[in-house]
Amino acid sequence: MLVDICTYVKPVLSVMDAVVGMEGQGPSAGDPRKIGAILASESPFALDVAACSMVGIDPDTVCTIQRARERGLCSSRLQDLTLLGDPMEDLLVRDFRIPEHKHAGMVEQYFGKDSRIGRFINYHFGPRPVFLQEGCVGCGNCAGNCPPKAITMVNHRPEVDLKKCIRCYCCQELCPQKTVAIKRSWIFRTFQ
Ligand code: SF4
Ligand code: SF4
Repeated sequence: MLVDICTYVKPVLSVMDAVVGMEGQGPSAGDPRKIGAILASESPFALDVAACSMVGIDPDTVCTIQRARERGLCSSRLQDLTLLGDPMEDLLVRDFRIPEHKHAGMVEQYFGKDSRIGRFINYHFGPRPVFLQEGCVGCGNCAGNCPPKAITMVNHRPEVDLKKCIRCYCCQELCPQKTVAIKRSWIFRTFQ
């Protein structure tokens, strides 16, 4: 869908402000990280490939880049890009912390798009939301904004039905107390 929108809008120039980025549990519970770069490209897909490479993420594990590559919109290899400006080597952030919920692209990379084993692994071992008791104020934001209504408030505390959970992580994004953690099983930590 994001690639569809991008190809429809046809941006002539895409600019990424990476002076201060966010690492860890983005987009709302991450930590600021000084990167010190501004990136620009006529291709938003190439821009993403360069940005991922800069912070140590394999572009082939990012779903939007995978889809763009499949459609022939870009290469996912940094060496195929024409880079101008400061040398990439000077901009690399070698210890950038990625979000715990980065997973779908990795499974697709190893097992293929929409494969049965990929879906099985994502469902049974994929990252899942865990509600921390300490700090939760029982506001119900998570339950109210859960798209499939997988969260029930019990005694002012959220409980999730993982069979209904679609792993969108809206609950984590919208928790004002940052008391929703994303837990990954060993299998995803191994593949990272
Ligand atoms: S990850 Fe999404 S679907 Fe799952 S409980 Fe949180 S908001 Fe609901
Ligand atoms: S949004 Fe956060 S603080 Fe509010 S009920 Fe859910 S987990 Fe608790």
